[in-house]
Amino acid sequence: MIQIENINVSYQQTLALDNITLNLEGPSITGIIGPNGAGKSTLIKALIGIIPHSGKILFNKQPIRQQLNRISYVAQKADFNFPITVRECISLGLYPKTKFFKRLSKSDWSKVTDALTLLGLNDLAHRQISQLSGGQFQRVLIARCLVQEADIILLDEPFVGIDSVSEDIIMNTLRELRDKGKLILIVHHDLSKVPHYFDQVILLNRKLIASGPTNLVFNEDNLRKTYGNSLFY
Ligand code: ADP
Ligand code: MG
Repeated sequence: MIQIENINVSYQQTLALDNITLNLEGPSITGIIGPNGAGKSTLIKALIGIIPHSGKILFNKQPIRQQLNRISYVAQKADFNFPITVRECISLGLYPKTKFFKRLSKSDWSKVTDALTLLGLNDLAHRQISQLSGGQFQRVLIARCLVQEADIILLDEPFVGIDSVSEDIIMNTLRELRDKGKLILIVHHDLSKVPHYFDQVILLNRKLIASGPTNLVFNEDNLRKTYGNSLFY
């Protein structure tokens, strides 16, 4: 379980997160929902300790910053332009569990092969990542998360600008991971898919509006509080 207690984050003058307190129970696929600038990415960055904040974040009762090896993270619009192949890119998920410069074992490579298969990337294994479509590249990043075998997976707007086939493949992979016990947190924009995608939601607009099971929390009243009335005209 993740416990977030009294988190505040400020950037210069902007108070990006205002006293956020909530608990997250796994296994689940939880959506972080809110308008532009609501602090969704900031919340994820606080979880992985790359942003200074006050308050406490615990995973299984211990500070999460001491357990970062149990988290996989894919940033919003991640792109890196190393000249590497799809298969090599996925294998990077195995470091630093394996030592850098140490050759990967047979069983390491079989994890990479399994991830390639699960995400429908077998035919692209030897292609340069620079030659992929957005959806194919996002699948590579999810495959890289998979081989990390982390307990917590954090994805910031993974479906923006990708094709629907990739989106479906990724969602199905995430559901399998959830069923194996993982806690998955996804920053997400498209409200129409929320009930279909998420067991739980966090509605955020600088302050926490609501969090809990989607069927209880994702309602018109809470959406008004999150987005204002503009959403309904
Ligand atoms: P979201 O992901 O919900 O769109 P963010 O967490 O990226 O929102 O940003 C929350 C607020 O903090 C916004 O007002 C944004 O402009 C501001 N902000 C984000 N990152 C920085 C930064 N590095 N420096 C200054 N302000 C920032
Ligand atoms: Mg963001």
